[in-house]
Amino acid sequence: MYDLYNLSFAFAACASFVCLSNIIFTHVQGRMGKTQNKLFELLLWIVALNGACNTVTALYAPMMETSSKAVMICNITRYLYFAFHTALAPAFFFYISHVCGRVFKVGPRNRYIYFILTIIAEVLALTNPFTKWVYLVDENNEFHRNWGEMIIYVISAVFFFLAVAMLFKTWSALTVKRRTGMIIFSAITFLGIVCQLLYSNFRVELFAESVGLTGVMMIIENEDDRIDNETGLYNRLAFVMDLQGYFLNKIPLHAISLRINTPEIISRKRGADNRELAEKKVASYLETLHKKYNIYKIGRRTFVLLFFKKTDEEALQIANTILERFDRPWHLVDTFVLLSPSILVADIPRQLDNLNDAIYMFDSFKPEKENKKLLSGDDLDNILRGSAIEKSISNGLAEGKFEVFFQPTYNIDGRKLHGAEALVRLHDDTMGLLYPDEFIPVAENIGLIDAIDDFVLIEVCKMIKEENFENRDIDCINVNLSVIQLMKPGFVEHINGIVETSGIDKKMINFEVTESLSADSYEIMNSVINDLKKEGFLFSMDDYGTGYSNMKALASMNLDCIKIDKSILWEAQKSDLGFIILENSIRMIHQMKRDILVEGVETEEQIKLLEPLGVNYLQGFYFSKPVPKDKFLEIVREAGV
Ligand code: C2E
Ligand code: CA
Ligand code: CA
Repeated sequence: MYDLYNLSFAFAACASFVCLSNIIFTHVQGRMGKTQNKLFELLLWIVALNGACNTVTALYAPMMETSSKAVMICNITRYLYFAFHTALAPAFFFYISHVCGRVFKVGPRNRYIYFILTIIAEVLALTNPFTKWVYLVDENNEFHRNWGEMIIYVISAVFFFLAVAMLFKTWSALTVKRRTGMIIFSAITFLGIVCQLLYSNFRVELFAESVGLTGVMMIIENEDDRIDNETGLYNRLAFVMDLQGYFLNKIPLHAISLRINTPEIISRKRGADNRELAEKKVASYLETLHKKYNIYKIGRRTFVLLFFKKTDEEALQIANTILERFDRPWHLVDTFVLLSPSILVADIPRQLDNLNDAIYMFDSFKPEKENKKLLSGDDLDNILRGSAIEKSISNGLAEGKFEVFFQPTYNIDGRKLHGAEALVRLHDDTMGLLYPDEFIPVAENIGLIDAIDDFVLIEVCKMIKEENFENRDIDCINVNLSVIQLMKPGFVEHINGIVETSGIDKKMINFEVTESLSADSYEIMNSVINDLKKEGFLFSMDDYGTGYSNMKALASMNLDCIKIDKSILWEAQKSDLGFIILENSIRMIHQMKRDILVEGVETEEQIKLLEPLGVNYLQGFYFSKPVPKDKFLEIVREAGV
């Protein structure tokens, strides 16, 4: 018996010592002033004081028979022990709910229940000197438990299991390191509690708890892996994990993302790149606006601030305040620089309802227009649609979701079928039929335009071969080429390869290219066109009149046909000036000895307007919209060619 007292004394003293060391360590480390940190410190204090109480009790207990002073001291320390220890489980639960981010989520009803449970336990412990419901000490100074202690245990168990359940709910938002740590240290604590419950004289519970808390301190409170070394803010890992937690717990929030668009921030005197310093300056500025632990640096020059319980207007107001700060220069060592920001304000989960979309958005948001620095509301939908289209394009190539439509072209003389333009479509399972105006620019951006254009060319060749167009009265099928693709080395060989494999005559393919702006690219384009023309392909200039229309360059290009854009035709119908432009464009192209196709023909009136001007070919909804292959073949059959 005496040995067990000694052991209890040692365990209690150790628990107290461990917790006090942890408190000192936490302070020395200066861990961020989050409520979570304060609650953790509270847990340490509870166990430390409990340990102190038990140490004193263990010291004086053997003297109780002889000294009334010892009896009094033991009574006080036991009383204090119960008073403090009863608060441990509710405090632990509250701490875990902060760690998991659930605290925003607890409804008023549950809050009430937690409060009542805590009060019941504490009232039992605090009123014990009068009621003796929790424990009593008999006239022989023997300690006896009473039913009240069982109730306190049950309430503690409820809080403990609530905390564990909460952890499991947010499990996937914890890193593997944190998960294993939580399991190991919870197990140690649990074991200690069970031991003491079974052998009440083996007072090991507090020590187990102090070991458990040390583990929590090493694993959860230690946020070294969550901190950005340069700015001291939370890093990308912390952002992804926290945001995942908020999604799992369905906690609504506003995210304001700030990107500094100035890629190099060069100091005037030293010629050094001051990116790091600029980031630090911006980080300190952001800290004046918001609590440090809700600001993250998620990438180079990119920050995210998370706000809870703000309205859209309030979030926008904060975003504008940040923008205004960027109107003024930033002081970096020996120079003042203006930094160019873009800001995005998102309501989560209303606008971004999953982690992937959110991360994509914060990583890649870009203002469409140079001068638009603040993105919110509808802008986000557009960016998200862009991301959905990117996914749709890459999946579509693998899953055969692209389809080539054909829009017939006609000779103006006798309105006889001339051929068709191949126009690509993309079937998306959720967004439906997508049009090239929307997805071609995206495909160009992500480098998948080559694959799409190859697919179209292969399909066109296949159709020409299968339907034997060469020996029927079909002149050519027009295929659009992206200028980006055309500029790539080896392009001519690549195209030759595809068409030669199909075994069709090259003159059946009429490539359409659009004007490009730079003089250099004209030269490359010219040489590619010449090479392909030597092979026997035909060439058209698309969308004449929409761009720069460099006449000299146009005249120097070896083209078969110029396609006049629909806007020129439509303007000609609307105004005299428009008509003059159309008429003169046609005259000039004729002088260059090129054929002319006018697109966008929608009415008989327009044809009447074009006939006297001497264009060669027509294309437009008047004849047919772009249609699937089967429908186009029907048109070919009906035309009797
Ligand atoms: P584009 O080459 O100027 O193609 C003509 C566009 O005008 C087609 O739109 C067609 O549906 C539309 N159109 C034709 N006639 C009329 C008309 O009478 N009225 C009106 N309102 N519109 C008419 P679509 O199919 O949406 O194609 C848009 C653009 O996408 C094309 O413009 C072309 O630049 C590009 N594109 C389409 N297919 C491909 C492709 O396979 N590869 C590449 N690189 N670009 C393509
Ligand atoms: Ca075209
Ligand atoms: Ca066109």
